[in-house]
Amino acid sequence: DVTTADLRAWITRFASLIDEHQTELTELDSAIGDADHGSNMARGMHAVLPKLDGAATPADLGKAIGMTLVSTVGGASGPLYGTFFLRLGGAAGAEDALDAATLGAALRAGVEGVVQRGKAEPGDKTMIDAFTPALQAWDDAVAGGADAVSAAEAAATAAAAGRDATVPLVARKGRASYLGERSAGHLDPGAASATLLLEALRDTLA
Ligand code: ADP
Ligand code: MG
Ligand code: MG
Repeated sequence: DVTTADLRAWITRFASLIDEHQTELTELDSAIGDADHGSNMARGMHAVLPKLDGAATPADLGKAIGMTLVSTVGGASGPLYGTFFLRLGGAAGAEDALDAATLGAALRAGVEGVVQRGKAEPGDKTMIDAFTPALQAWDDAVAGGADAVSAAEAAATAAAAGRDATVPLVARKGRASYLGERSAGHLDPGAASATLLLEALRDTLA
């Protein structure tokens, strides 16, 4: 089962992946946005890291991460990822051993929070286009008897495919939507960071 320590390791790994890909995320955002997604996420995750040790349960952890992202990231992604972690923690609760189905349900609660807050639908060229297939892959894996390790592997692969499928899409939410048809032909930066989040979980549980 996945423990609070595993969740801390996940977020630490996510922060490293954001650092590694910061330039790339900002370049993606320079094509269809305002060239700050990498720096937004890096600033947010650096503020999150020192908060991880003080959180004793998944709920505490989600709250600490979420509140920190909301207050340190100015862009659209701060409140959206902030909501993701607040909801994920709330759904996971105080349990220190999450099985694959429970963690899947917590991830789903997080993504539902993002949808509620941002109103994006699949195909709008946002982080939702990586998250939605990842959740589906997670649930399919669990239905087939997979543990969290295999479910995370399947979810990361599906997220990457969803991310890549944002290239031809016309953005209907966020700054990229101001470009209209000119947003087509570029990969969405938030779908790229959401994929890193699932890849971090895969790496941590493997
Ligand atoms: P900003 O656009 O405010 O500069 P960022 O550059 O940090 O913020 O984040 C941009 C990303 O946020 C986009 O690539 C997209 O994936 C995501 N995003 C923007 N608006 C929404 C929304 N309404 N719902 C879901 N995701 C969104
Ligand atoms: Mg931006
Ligand atoms: Mg911005």
